[in-house]
Amino acid sequence: MATVENVNWTKKAQSRVARLGSQTVRVGVTGLSGAGKTTFITSVINQLENHHRGLLARRIPFNRLISVRWQRVSVAQPFSYLEALDALSSVPARWPSSTTDLARVVIDLQFRPEGLLRKIQGVREVRIELLDYPGEWLLDLPLLGLDYGQWCAQMAALVDSEPRRSIAADLRLRLAAIDPAAPCDPVELRQLTAEWTAFILRCRTDAELSRNQPGRFMLPGSGIAADMLLFVPLLSANQHSDGPAGSWWSQCEQRFNYYRDFVVKGFYDEHFSRLDRQILLVDMLAPMQAGQAALKDLKQALEDVMGSFRYGRNSLLQRLFSPRISRMAICATKVDQVAPGEQRSLQQCLEDLVTDSLSEVRHGGVQVQGFPVSAVRAADQQGETMVGGLVGQTAFVRYQPVSVPRHLPLDLKLVGPKLLHLRPPANLHRNEPFPHFRMDDLVGWILEGKLL
Ligand code: GDP
Repeated sequence: MATVENVNWTKKAQSRVARLGSQTVRVGVTGLSGAGKTTFITSVINQLENHHRGLLARRIPFNRLISVRWQRVSVAQPFSYLEALDALSSVPARWPSSTTDLARVVIDLQFRPEGLLRKIQGVREVRIELLDYPGEWLLDLPLLGLDYGQWCAQMAALVDSEPRRSIAADLRLRLAAIDPAAPCDPVELRQLTAEWTAFILRCRTDAELSRNQPGRFMLPGSGIAADMLLFVPLLSANQHSDGPAGSWWSQCEQRFNYYRDFVVKGFYDEHFSRLDRQILLVDMLAPMQAGQAALKDLKQALEDVMGSFRYGRNSLLQRLFSPRISRMAICATKVDQVAPGEQRSLQQCLEDLVTDSLSEVRHGGVQVQGFPVSAVRAADQQGETMVGGLVGQTAFVRYQPVSVPRHLPLDLKLVGPKLLHLRPPANLHRNEPFPHFRMDDLVGWILEGKLL
């Protein structure tokens, strides 16, 4: 006879099994603009939707995958999967639009349970939440530890060295000539802010430089009003500067403080501290092609970005947010541009560039794994040559693949590869797995440990 105790026990056991049977993994996907985030997430969803056909079909646990449901999330900033598919499958094929804001994707998976659990569990459910956000926002992390005067001094040192000095031209002199204690002219402040924004965008587009602050000036994201982004570094100021109410100093300092305490910290509080895993995508080839200055800058930028994953005891992050990212994947992207035999060298060059930061991240307890990936393979190897189509053209070209050194030279001086701007392959369709390199490894990594 069923007693009350028995019924309670059974209910408890069932709810435990149900909890065991459903899990959520929250994964951040980031990288500087152009690293390949949008294309990557589109390919992750596509590989999962076509798990029964592509390389995933042969992998454990995907051979037990019953169904995949990609959800158009009803929150602000959904990821536009359908728009990305539309671009990739158009004629001629186009690359999807890049990430400019925070976007969220939810993918629900149902698996057949294994072993003993098969008897008591119908299905196992795993929810993957992908949070796509511009890496430029992480470049602002160091601001959390700075006051306005210290930031001005850092910017002054940065703008003083080439190639930024030439790119900034007379903006550097005009910002240096402002007396912090003089009354602020609001019209001039607006003008200078616009010029500073244009300057950091030029650093990115003309010289492939990566450390461009403040990150939100380049990619503000939704919910950020223009008035929140109205300050410039006063290049003659430092941490001992000061100024009365209404001065350049007080106007810029107040706005800097608001930016630091609400915009930058708000992002970490609200989104970043909830992530379990992090994927960091890096385009190594473009800065290798641009040369030593671009590589140095990328190194510094990646070190700043990885500061967000360094959880050593007493680190700024640990004190402010108690983050819980336990695993990080660092991926050289677009590796289809080089011959398959050289893809691992490209990944090695990336890991060479950030050796110390990677050690620090590992030291803080985060497991790190590297994957050279291509979300959508745009070129194929044919014998000694590669064949692919170029953006803006319909014909195909046969070309000699660029060669990549096995290691990055310590001084970062190398003869960069000359790259072609490949277009996506023709005939991509939502219901066929896109051709790729190692996306199956990455999708496996996302779920590792979540299905035991
Ligand atoms: P995001 O700014 O990080 O979102 O980067 P995107 O996903 O928009 O990618 C930027 C550009 O990189 C695209 O427009 C393509 O030109 C290129 N790209 C992205 N993924 C791949 C890939 O897998 N292979 C190749 N050859 N190019 C890619």
